[in-house]
Order: sequence, then C-alpha cells, then structure tokens
Amino acid sequence: MSSFKNKAYIFSGLTALITSLVLVLLFSVFLHLFDLLDTKLLIFSFSLNFLVIFFIFHFRSKKYMFKRTEKIYNDILTLESNKTAVDKLLSSEDMDLLTNEISKYISLKKKQVQSLKDREEFRKEFVGNVAHELKTPLFTIQGYISTLLDGALSDPEVLKKYLNRADKGVDRLIYIVKDLDMITKIEFGESELNKSNFNIFELVSSVFEDLDMKAQKKNISLVFKEKSENISEVYADKERIQQLITNLIVNSIKYGHKNGTTEVDIVNTDEEKILVKISDNGEGIEEEHIPRIFERFYRVDKSGARSEGGSGLGLSIVKHIIDAHDEKIFVESKYGIGSEFSFTLKKFIVD
Ligand code: ADP
Repeated sequence: MSSFKNKAYIFSGLTALITSLVLVLLFSVFLHLFDLLDTKLLIFSFSLNFLVIFFIFHFRSKKYMFKRTEKIYNDILTLESNKTAVDKLLSSEDMDLLTNEISKYISLKKKQVQSLKDREEFRKEFVGNVAHELKTPLFTIQGYISTLLDGALSDPEVLKKYLNRADKGVDRLIYIVKDLDMITKIEFGESELNKSNFNIFELVSSVFEDLDMKAQKKNISLVFKEKSENISEVYADKERIQQLITNLIVNSIKYGHKNGTTEVDIVNTDEEKILVKISDNGEGIEEEHIPRIFERFYRVDKSGARSEGGSGLGLSIVKHIIDAHDEKIFVESKYGIGSEFSFTLKKFIVD
C-alpha cells in the first residue's frame, strides 16, 4: 500500500524533474539569445516549474488512474457487495483506499477458491469411501445368493447358512446407511441444536439399559464409577448427546474383552463444565492410530481381522456432535490395556 504511495510520488517527482530541466534549458537558451542569462533567475524558474508540475501532474495522474481502476472495481464489487459502501468508497476518490480494497478483495477470492477446491477434493474422497464401504457387503450378499441360485438351494443346511450370512451383509449395509444418514443430518443441521437442560446420570442410565443385551453377550458390565460427583443437570441437545454416549459405549463393548467393564465417571472441571469419562479395559488403540480415529471411515483394522468392526463412522459422528456443541473430546488409550474417551459438557446454571 505505502509502496504504491511512494511509487506515485517518485513517478511524479521524476516527471516534474525532467520537464523542469527541459523547460529551464529552453529558458536559458532564450535568455542567452537576449544576453540576459542569470543563474538566480534560472534556479528560481527551475524550482517554480518543479513545484507546479509536480503538484499538477501528481493530482491529475492520480485522478486518471483512479478513474481507470474505478470502473473495474465498480463492475466487480457491485455484483457482490453493498452498493452504498462501494459508492461511498468511489466518491472519496482515494486511490490508496481503493487499492487497499482491491487487495483485500483479491485475497478473499483466493481463499474462497481454495476452500472450493478443498471441498471438491473432500467430496470426491467421500463418494469414493462410501462406494468402497457399500461394495464389500453388497458383493458378499451377491456371492451367497449366486451360489444358492447355482444349485446350493437344494441343500437345506447350506441354504440356511448362506441366507444367514447374506442377512448379516444386509445388516451391515443398513448400519452403514444409517450412519451416513446420521452424519448428513448432523452436518446440515449443525446450527440447529435443540438444547435443553437434562439429567446426565439419567441419560447415561438409559443408554446402559438400551445396550444391556449387547453388553451381556460379552458379559461386560456397564457401571458408574462409585464416587461420581454430585452433578446432574447439563445444558445440551439431549438426543445428540444420547447418540454420542451410545456410540462411545457401543465401541467400548465392541472393542472390549469378554468379562470386561465399561465405566462411566462424571466429574466437575470448573464452575461451568463437567467431564464425562467413558473407559474400558478392552483391546485399546495403538498410538499411531489415535490421531486419525475421528476421521470418517477410519478403522484401525480395515481388513476386518479384528473380531468386531463397524462403518468407521461412529467416532466421526461423535466428533461432529462435540464440535456442534463447541465442546472438547479427549482420548487416552494403551494398546492391550484399554481406552478412555472423555468429553466436556456445559452445566445447567439457574440464573
Ligand atoms: P467403527 O465403526 O469401526 O467402530 P468408529 O469411528 O466408531 O468406527 O471407530 C474408529 C476406530 O477406532 C475403530 O475401528 C476402532 O479400531 C477404534 N476404536 C474406537 N473406540 C475404541 C475402543 N473403545 N477401544 C478400542 N478401539 C476403539
């Protein structure tokens, strides 16, 4: 900006200098012809010329440049900005302000283009991942159905076994589609949280009840830590928080060992927040995977060698819910020992 100002002064100064020198030279030839040559007169005429030319030229050239730039600026900005603000800026005829505004406009456009490119990249990756995730169960189902149609139908035992496997494939398709549906809903409605005050212990207890059967299959106990502090009411979107706690507890069961324990502890962090900790003594997560587990479709073992697996969207949904609430989530995990996921929530404070 100031370099533009300096350059304009230097340009006007040089033009004034050259023009004044030429004029003084001509003037001195004229004086010499009439034998009137006088150094003081020449210095005075040079200085006067310089000053007059400098100011006139500087003022006129700025006005000219302003007019030329104004049109471009007017065309671009009135399309998207507040018309009166643009008119006000143009009527000020301030070239510095105008170039400043144009620079700002260009850097804004650069950022917008970059964000569009990023989104496009993200969209491609997302569609690719969705197709990949759906492909595996679809091909499995197709494989079993084709084998049955090719003749295995006549053997009742094989028929039952293959139908059961195809059924599992359909289940997998359903929960991938459900998770995708959930993540899309959260993304579109991030700003529309339906916040209210509710009892966090009651909510966790109802999630324990919902997941009781699932936990019993592995003989995992779902418990509160004995000395959970005396906190009850929080202020958040109850349905989403229930989804979040469900996803974390489902994971603690899925990746927990048989006869293990999932423990929930709720503690005060300060006057305004509480921390909900969900810990298990299951298989844990290797350190190198921890930074990526909240990414969409990220699964520690993509080959499915782990006994349980999901869509890889569970923790991504959790992160979306946390971000929408402007809260924080933390993970601590030791491979072979267990994991602890903890997140903050706002307390309900009566005014
Ligand atoms: P998934 O549908 O595969 O469970 P998530 O997004 O819920 O996907 O989790 C991502 C990965 O993080 C999982 O594949 C799993 O390897 C790991 N993970 C999540 N929670 C736990 C946990 N409590 N214990 C061990 N590993 C976990």
